[in-house]
Amino acid sequence: MPRSDPSIDRLTRSHRNSFTAVRLDRLVEFRDDPEWLASALASPEARFLPQWRGRGLIDPVRSDRPVIYLAQRPANSPVTLLGRDSRYCYFACPVDDAGQRHLLETHPGAAFADLRLATASLHEKHAGILAYAKALLYWQYRHAFCGSCGAPNRLESAGHRLVCENPECARESFPRIDPAIIVLITQTDACLLGRNARWPERRFSTLAGYLEPGESLEDAVTREVFEEARVRLSAIRYVSSQPWPFPSSAMCGFYAEAASRDCAPTEEMEELRWLTAAELARAITTDEIRVPPPVSIAFRLIADWYRSQSGERLAHLVREAGSWAGRDRLE
Ligand SMILES: [Zn+2]
Repeated sequence: MPRSDPSIDRLTRSHRNSFTAVRLDRLVEFRDDPEWLASALASPEARFLPQWRGRGLIDPVRSDRPVIYLAQRPANSPVTLLGRDSRYCYFACPVDDAGQRHLLETHPGAAFADLRLATASLHEKHAGILAYAKALLYWQYRHAFCGSCGAPNRLESAGHRLVCENPECARESFPRIDPAIIVLITQTDACLLGRNARWPERRFSTLAGYLEPGESLEDAVTREVFEEARVRLSAIRYVSSQPWPFPSSAMCGFYAEAASRDCAPTEEMEELRWLTAAELARAITTDEIRVPPPVSIAFRLIADWYRSQSGERLAHLVREAGSWAGRDRLE
């Protein structure tokens, strides 16, 4: 198991993961203040982040500022307060197909881009704001109706609370996040990477899975690792976490030491490979193995382990191997 770098505390470790660099003041205390909200919406400092089907508006030509924030609220769009930085107050706005067409007409060259593909070319702060908006709007979309009585829900608290419109029910609901564990298993000088048949060609990665009711995070690590790879663990260490809005997870990252290198492919993982740092470098260089994209905590777990073993940076190796080709393209 890689040793912790004592110069990096836990807070800083999580901040190195993509989507965590949102340094907005979330203005929680103002969400239920309609007067404040009306004034913030009318202020010249308001910026509106349009989202169409979970995608943000990106202009790839503006490489310094590719995310488009509108100074005018899109017509007929509900608003959700995200928060404020030193210059602007940000709101997320879902737009329908007509709104999408209008924005594309008024922003030639721009596109509504999938966050996972767009992130490689975005400043981390803006990737984080997009991820935050995407997660909130997805929750609103999936909870348009009350889970108890089926009546429509209405948005409250500037988009952070849903309330059932049936006065006899009036059930409140709040943004839902699904916790998941993700773990790099090591054993002495090797790590274990697995391959799921549904992943892109040659992709090998860490193991991951959702928490089940009644489990601690550590229980879930132990269960998932045995279910997916038939590996027994001797130690588990929490490393860092990452919001993962595809669609609504929170990834909790761990290192785990295996009791031995005994393992077996399963329905979930069709192939498993123990690799030392040198073997991993060779497999990446020859394009036999493609690690997950750098936006993921999986990449971070593998890269930090690789650095602890070899002193080298995995990002350099992967870039030179050419297996990032296409990752920065917008769809
Ligand atoms: Zn209800």
